[in-house]
Amino acid sequence: MTVNLLDYDAAGLNGYFATLGEKPFRAKQVLRWLHRNGEGDFSRMTDVAKSLRERLAIEACVAAPPLVGDSLARDGTRKFLFDVGRGNAIETVFIPEEDRGTLCVSSQAGCALDCAFCSTGRQGFSRNLTVAEIIGQLWQANRLLDAAHRTDERAVSNVVMMGMGEPLANFDNVVTALRLMLDDNAYGLSRRRVTVSTSGMVPMMDALGAACPVALAVSLHAPNDALRDRLVPLNRKYPLAELMAACRRYLAVAPRDFVTFEYVMLAGVNDRDSDARELLELVRDVPCKFNLIPFNPFPNSGFSRSRPERIRRFAEVLMAAGIVTTTRKTRGDDIAAACGQLAGLVQDRSGRASRVPGELQR
Ligand code: SAH
Ligand code: SF4
Repeated sequence: MTVNLLDYDAAGLNGYFATLGEKPFRAKQVLRWLHRNGEGDFSRMTDVAKSLRERLAIEACVAAPPLVGDSLARDGTRKFLFDVGRGNAIETVFIPEEDRGTLCVSSQAGCALDCAFCSTGRQGFSRNLTVAEIIGQLWQANRLLDAAHRTDERAVSNVVMMGMGEPLANFDNVVTALRLMLDDNAYGLSRRRVTVSTSGMVPMMDALGAACPVALAVSLHAPNDALRDRLVPLNRKYPLAELMAACRRYLAVAPRDFVTFEYVMLAGVNDRDSDARELLELVRDVPCKFNLIPFNPFPNSGFSRSRPERIRRFAEVLMAAGIVTTTRKTRGDDIAAACGQLAGLVQDRSGRASRVPGELQR
């Protein structure tokens, strides 16, 4: 069977080259061609011995998921749709800003966790993405974007694992992809420029801290267990006290000295001043920043977005207590590329997609 070289990080590629009787420095050369140069054609890897190039062309391949959709929003946000086979497609979003280019990467086709306000969750779940499908999003995006990019720097300077899926539910593949993002022979991003967002898989947060500590964002969304149980069903398994303790443990190994709490602003559900004050109690012992995300609607969600004035007041309560609080700009919503709007195409195997959506208001 042909092996896909995009499935390997440096250690994996060394291992594969060893089976070919090739030295580690050959693996390093090829790794650099693949990821630093975005080269997918062995015949163009000019400093690699010709005999090895010919052998790789027969026994190996470089297969990133093919691009099947590409839309550009008015604000410059660009959404790519990649085919991952059998009727599934995933979305990747590029968000250009003055001083950086952030790529929002997917980790699963769909998501099994079913948060009440999330369009990906509503789609149901198909499967975990392979390493090649995860890193392939970055590989493809750099190739597609660099062409239009005038400087020597690559277009993507930051990666956030905030696309479709729960990254820590696809732990091994996500960690291998993260290692490639950080590797100087691949993408060379600093740990601070790579962020994993989790809905709170407590044991896997510890595992991430041990295997590959990068910046961490936690999807909090509620100040108490009663409400969080309804919004983020995973909370029933890992309630807030455990989640806060896991955040503190993570901070001991994290590249940043704070955790980012993401908090979706749902009108009349979690956006009162009293909710903000309750949050202050909850996070008292966790150095953190808050990132408020105005809810992005999708059909039959049953929720609506808090008004700007409400979001501003909510932020003020947090900031008055000394917590740095930002409100996420809604980017790319005219092409359904904003947070929580990514749906791609998911061949649901959980039966959820056919369920009738319920209302959730307090
Ligand atoms: N599964 C991971 C990462 C992907 S979602 C997680 O849940 O953290 C990235 C962020 O978008 C999360 O904070 C998620 O809760 C939020 N989100 C989901 N649906 C949303 C919506 N409709 N509007 C705004 N944010 C949403
Ligand atoms: Fe999955 Fe995150 Fe959406 Fe929840 S918010 S359903 S964990 S992608």
